[in-house]
Amino acid sequence: TCITSDMILNDAKLWEAYPLCARNLLDGLRSNHHLRYQGRQQLSLFLKGIGLNIDEALKFWSKEFSKSMGVDKFEKEYKYNFKHNYGLEGNRINYRPWDCSTILSKPRPNKGEFHGCPFRDWSKDRLVMELKKNVSNNNITNHEINSILDSCKNHEYTIACTKYYEINKKAIVHGDSSGISSSSMEGEHITHPNLYFERIRMLQT
Ligand code: SF4
Repeated sequence: TCITSDMILNDAKLWEAYPLCARNLLDGLRSNHHLRYQGRQQLSLFLKGIGLNIDEALKFWSKEFSKSMGVDKFEKEYKYNFKHNYGLEGNRINYRPWDCSTILSKPRPNKGEFHGCPFRDWSKDRLVMELKKNVSNNNITNHEINSILDSCKNHEYTIACTKYYEINKKAIVHGDSSGISSSSMEGEHITHPNLYFERIRMLQT
C-alpha cells in the first residue's frame, strides 16, 4: 500500500515499525516544525526508503515546516533540499537512505538537533525512560534494559538496537516479551534503520 504524508506521524502501525532514531527525528520535527540539515537528510532519506514518494514527501515536509515559517519560506529555502534527495535537482543522484554506520559517522547532534543514533547520543536516564515508553505494551524487563545499556557502554550501538528490535518483535508476535533470545539474533543484526522498519512491517502483516 502507498504511504501517504498524513500517515507518517499518525499511523500507529507505522509508528510501531520506526526504529528509535526515526522516532526521535519525528518527535523533534513534530515539536519544532523544523529540523536542521543533518536531521532533514537522515529523516527524509529514511522516509524515502519506506516508500514515501516525492509528492507525498513534499506535502509532508511543507505541512510541518510551514507551521513554523509559512509556506513561502519553505518553498524558497527548503523545498529544493527535499527534491534534491529524490534526485530531482542538482546532480540528480538518487541518494540512498543512510545505514547505521553512516549515521554513526556523522557529527553528533548538538542541542536542538535530532539526527544520530539514540543508543549512542542519549543519556542513560533518557534512554531508560524512552525504552520503557517505546516498547509495545510497556513490556520490557530490567534485565533487558540492562542488557541494552551494557551494549551501549561497549559502544555496540547496533547490537543495542538489535536487542531492542528483538524485544519489540516478541511484543508484536506474542503480545508480550519474554527475554532476549540470543539464537534468533544471528542473521537479524540491525545495521540499517530501513531494515529495522521492514522487519517489523513483515511481522505486522
Ligand atoms: Fe537507528 Fe541504527 Fe541507531 Fe538503530 S542502531 S537507532 S537503526 S542508527
